[in-house]
Amino acid sequence: MKYIDGFREKDAALWLNRQIAQAGDQLAARGRTVHLMEVCGSHTMAVSRSGIRETLPSSIRLLSGPGCPVCVTDAGYVDAAIRMAEQGAIIVTFGDMVRVPGSHQSLADVRAQGGDVRICYSPADALRVAAENPGREVVFLAIGFETTAAPVTTLIPSARQADIRNLSLLTAFKRVPPALEALVADEEVQVDGFICPAHVSAIIGAEAYRPCVEGHHLPCTICGFEPLDILYGIVDLAEQLVSGRAELVNQYSRVVRPGGNPAALQLFEKYLTVCDASWRGIGTIPDSGMAIRGEFVDMDAARRFGVSTEGGRPDPGCRCGDVLKGKIIPPDCPHFGHACTPPHPVGPCMVSSEGSCAAFYRYGGGR
Ligand code: SF4
Repeated sequence: MKYIDGFREKDAALWLNRQIAQAGDQLAARGRTVHLMEVCGSHTMAVSRSGIRETLPSSIRLLSGPGCPVCVTDAGYVDAAIRMAEQGAIIVTFGDMVRVPGSHQSLADVRAQGGDVRICYSPADALRVAAENPGREVVFLAIGFETTAAPVTTLIPSARQADIRNLSLLTAFKRVPPALEALVADEEVQVDGFICPAHVSAIIGAEAYRPCVEGHHLPCTICGFEPLDILYGIVDLAEQLVSGRAELVNQYSRVVRPGGNPAALQLFEKYLTVCDASWRGIGTIPDSGMAIRGEFVDMDAARRFGVSTEGGRPDPGCRCGDVLKGKIIPPDCPHFGHACTPPHPVGPCMVSSEGSCAAFYRYGGGR
């Protein structure tokens, strides 16, 4: 606790707030408002929980981007998992995915109708379920960014080694750097600097963001999750923008290395291949996904079941896409707090424990 408390120290937070205010004054004097975007569900929750957004000057706006893995997973993916459950497969998934709406229903609805949908706490649980049910197909919902993709990918060699043939993965892995590039290129998105994710950066390494920094002259700062980490990141980005610099700064060097985690990167290299991916509310982003590599496609659930993850139709009134691009904040959605609440979510951003809408609903703020 002593270690954690060091990153929540009040006087240090107040000092950082004064640095932010000074940078904000300089930006305001030039008539400029800058938009900083964090792209990490844990940052989203930490920002809301600690009330950081409300402490910022009006010339510095803090947006939440597509950093929640559940939120960016397409409705068509949920539909595909439902079709597999209807064909008799055991669906194994982390908890949040169960309540994410597909085009017509969620996996929770399917489970209530007798479908076999099981919540797990580790990918290894899927291996155990498959071993215990040799006569049935078991599908693990393999979603997430690079952080989750690493441990989930170990299921491929583990299943091979244990000669478990009834386990497959329905993959919707996402890669963060191409998403940042797509956001910068989107004329509807206002972003002047990125607070880069912590866990993902530990896997892919700080240098993964250099093309975004140098290609778009956009400052990127990698931060941890504690309030002082985030405030420090905002100070850095604001000061870079005041001085016209665009640098890659790794403020989370206690965890993130320049080249990332070699063991995880080797796993990706051996078992996965880069592919285009569809992001809920955003669309297809080139090279922003990872699929199972050719030699191992027998473990690809979509192929095994002949089911497509495309063509989903989310609720037309849900504005998760605009929330995920930082175009609106959740209270701007007409459903927020009315038709859409955590017990009755209309979109994934209200389902996930890391979703922007859930964060605003739980902690308020933002105006
Ligand atoms: S409040 Fe609900 S309906 Fe509106 S954007 Fe968020 S999740 Fe979608």
